[in-house]
Amino acid sequence: MTIPGPPSLDFIRTIVAQDVKAGKHGGRVMTRFPPEPNGYLHIGHAKSMCLNFGIAQETPGGLCNLRYDDTNPTKENVEYVESIQADVRWLGFDWGQRLFHASDYFEQLYEYAVVLIKKWRAYVDGSTAEEIRQNRGTLVAPGTESPHRNRSMEENLDLFTRMRAGEFPDGAYVLRAKIDMASPNLNMRDPTLYRIRRVPHYRTGDRWCIYPTYDFAHPLSDSLEGVTHSLCTLEFEDHRPLYDWMLDGCEARCHSRQIEFARLNLSYTVMSKRKLLELVEEGHVTGWDDPRLPTLMGLRRRGYTPEAIRNFCDHIGVAKRDGVVEMALLEHFIREDLNRRAPRVMAVLRPLRVVIENYPEGQVEDLEAVNNPEDPGMGTRKVPFSRVVYIEREDFREIPPKKFFRLAPGQEVRLRYAYIIQCVGLVKDEQTGEVVEVRCTYDPETRSGSSQASRKVKGTLHWVSAAKAIEAEVRLYDYLFIKPNPGEDKEGGGYRAFLNPRSLEILPSCQVEPSLAGAAPGSRYQFERQGYFCVDSVDSSGSRLVFNRTVALRDTWAKVEKTQQGG
Ligand code: ATP
Ligand code: MG
Repeated sequence: MTIPGPPSLDFIRTIVAQDVKAGKHGGRVMTRFPPEPNGYLHIGHAKSMCLNFGIAQETPGGLCNLRYDDTNPTKENVEYVESIQADVRWLGFDWGQRLFHASDYFEQLYEYAVVLIKKWRAYVDGSTAEEIRQNRGTLVAPGTESPHRNRSMEENLDLFTRMRAGEFPDGAYVLRAKIDMASPNLNMRDPTLYRIRRVPHYRTGDRWCIYPTYDFAHPLSDSLEGVTHSLCTLEFEDHRPLYDWMLDGCEARCHSRQIEFARLNLSYTVMSKRKLLELVEEGHVTGWDDPRLPTLMGLRRRGYTPEAIRNFCDHIGVAKRDGVVEMALLEHFIREDLNRRAPRVMAVLRPLRVVIENYPEGQVEDLEAVNNPEDPGMGTRKVPFSRVVYIEREDFREIPPKKFFRLAPGQEVRLRYAYIIQCVGLVKDEQTGEVVEVRCTYDPETRSGSSQASRKVKGTLHWVSAAKAIEAEVRLYDYLFIKPNPGEDKEGGGYRAFLNPRSLEILPSCQVEPSLAGAAPGSRYQFERQGYFCVDSVDSSGSRLVFNRTVALRDTWAKVEKTQQGG
């Protein structure tokens, strides 16, 4: 893959730089990352964090707030709140003392609503939700004004006070902005500002029975914190006039500027929290931290590093147009990062027994293996060699195709860090005809690193000593969906039809080299010739090793074979 470099200064950073230069907000820069605690963070949120925290870090004196956008108590809870902080920290960002909650502002927001009512720019509407929807009009037809729109200011104030006091049942009234029912922008047709909802809030308990909407709470929360640049995704572009209306109407002390950018979409997955929640609740995945999900928890458990995710986000940059980024690009960044930092080990995923007939029974040699050829500083380790080893089943063919430089009857290969062996026979299962054992001889003169080791053969295989290997479970992951754009229909549930039935393959009895005994949960390795793997942090224990495949190495043989088959 050719990876073009990132753009130098994206359009948002250009605006921020111009504003600083012009001395807007006294040259101050403050951004915020405003998750709603109604789910776990995904890699789309990582893009937003890299942008918001990134801009603050790059600007002298710049600040970035972590703000919970917690105005909808029906879907929000503490579990999500805590996971979000853990994920932000894991990704490498620090909000310091700047942790805020929209719910902290409920009292101030209420006061702002009163300001609007007193200016007769908001009114209490007793229409039903259905009536409000029907009277909203369409893109081509203007809306119809509510019969309650011209209530007196005093009456509005009285009703709003009583809404707060809990005198009315849920849904009896809403507070609406009085803007323009004929506006071509539907968001400006008297949007709802407050709803009655007798739902306890995870922070304010039952102190409130009215809750502000996003369109009301968000601009004012930005303003209360002194945010200068309010960065959000493109679907809010049509809300920008409303954002500005709210700040002007309430005479907010700080008028932040809303700038929209394209949300991150990744191929072969879905990103909306609603769909992710459905996948979890319906059991299509094992939980929010399922390594197949694009959640930060899932990616972490899969073995992704925060650096790889940040590099990926920096690389894709921000743009004004929606698009889909290839999953392969994300994989490129984790390979690049792990290539540098992951120690190499040998692990055989689908073991085939190889008996080396002329190697002394009971003998064990400790051979020297390099931990990372990319980084000599990572040193070497010993791997034991003995008469019986396991190799990968796919590394042996009874009838080898052309250019198969691995093991086959009569053929020679090198066992990595060890000797050259030659296949002299095989043992088959009498019933199935399957090859269950390969018989070989070794050439003692060819030990790696020794002076006679110069003899060359075309294939080098990874292996483990049968006597010393430890058993492990390995989980191989494939894309969760078989279609590049499963979530295309934004609201529908049709994406379920494209779930990949083979997204998880469990190999219960892999054989790994003994240096992996007791490997710490979360530690990452390259299994030579296979890919990058990470010790599962949930299911691994002292006596049971479980590895997740983070990403495969590019499989060159698969390519050769495909070309040979002409497709
Ligand atoms: P979803 O649609 O996945 O539920 P959301 O936008 O409702 O996401 P929030 O918790 O409100 O989720 O998002 C917090 C911040 O992260 C917002 O500023 C939002 O714009 C941004 N964000 C969410 N999803 C993406 C994405 N895919 N790409 C970039 N930014 C995103
Ligand atoms: Mg949202």
